[in-house]
Amino acid sequence: MNDETQMPDEQFTEDFRVACHEHGHFFACLSFGISASPVVFIEAERYETNVAGACRLDFLADATPFQKSVIGYAGFLAEHLCGVVPRRASNPFPLRETTLREFWSATETGFEAIFGLSDQRFIASYGNRWLAFKGAYFRIIKKRAKIKRLARHTANEKLAERIEFEKAKKAVEELAKNPPKTIPAAASARILADFIEGLHPNDPRRERLAPALASLRRGVVPELNGELTLTTEEMEALKP
Ligand SMILES: [Zn+2]
Repeated sequence: MNDETQMPDEQFTEDFRVACHEHGHFFACLSFGISASPVVFIEAERYETNVAGACRLDFLADATPFQKSVIGYAGFLAEHLCGVVPRRASNPFPLRETTLREFWSATETGFEAIFGLSDQRFIASYGNRWLAFKGAYFRIIKKRAKIKRLARHTANEKLAERIEFEKAKKAVEELAKNPPKTIPAAASARILADFIEGLHPNDPRRERLAPALASLRRGVVPELNGELTLTTEEMEALKP
C-alpha cells in the first residue's frame, strides 16, 4: 500500500460482504434464541485461520438439525440479499420468492464451490435442505436493512483498524531497517529494574538508582530533560 491513510475500496467492500455474511448467521441464530457473536478478522494470519470472518455460536448443542441447516444457509443468503455476491456464488436465477426454488437448485449444483466447509456441515445437518433454505430466506429478508446497517458499521470499524494495523506494520518495518539508537523508557525501566534486582541487598547503588527507576516507570528520563528515550550505552554504563 502506498498511502497509509487510505484503504482500497475493494477491501472495504470485502469487509462489508464478510460482515453481511456473518450477520446473516447471527440473525438466524437470534430467531431461534441461540446466542451468537459475529466477527470480521482484519488479518487472517493473526488468527491462524484462512477465513475472513466467523460467527461464534453458544449453546449450539441445543440447536435442532433444521435450525443448524437454516443457520448454515443464512450467511450466504445475507450476502445475496444485501447485494454483495462474490463471483463464485453468482446464480442464473434472481433471488425472489417466485424463483426461490430454481435459485436453490442452482445453489445445490455448485454447493461445494459456493459454501465454506463449516457452512456445508451446518446445511447438511438436515435432510430437507429446500425447507431449510426457505426458512433462512424468509428470516433474512426481514432483517435485510438491519444486516446492512450493522455490516456498514463493522466495515467502517475494520477500515479504522486496518489503517492502524498498516501504520503499525510500517513502523515495525521502518524499525527493522533503521534499528534505533535509543530504547523506550519502559524498556529502559525493565532493564534497570532487572539490574537493581541483581544487586546485593546492601549495595548502595540500589538507593542511588531508585529515583531514576521511578521516573523511568513514569516514562521520564530525568537525565535527558524529560525525553522518553535512554540510549542502550547509557543503560550499559549503569552496570558495574
Ligand atoms: Zn458462513
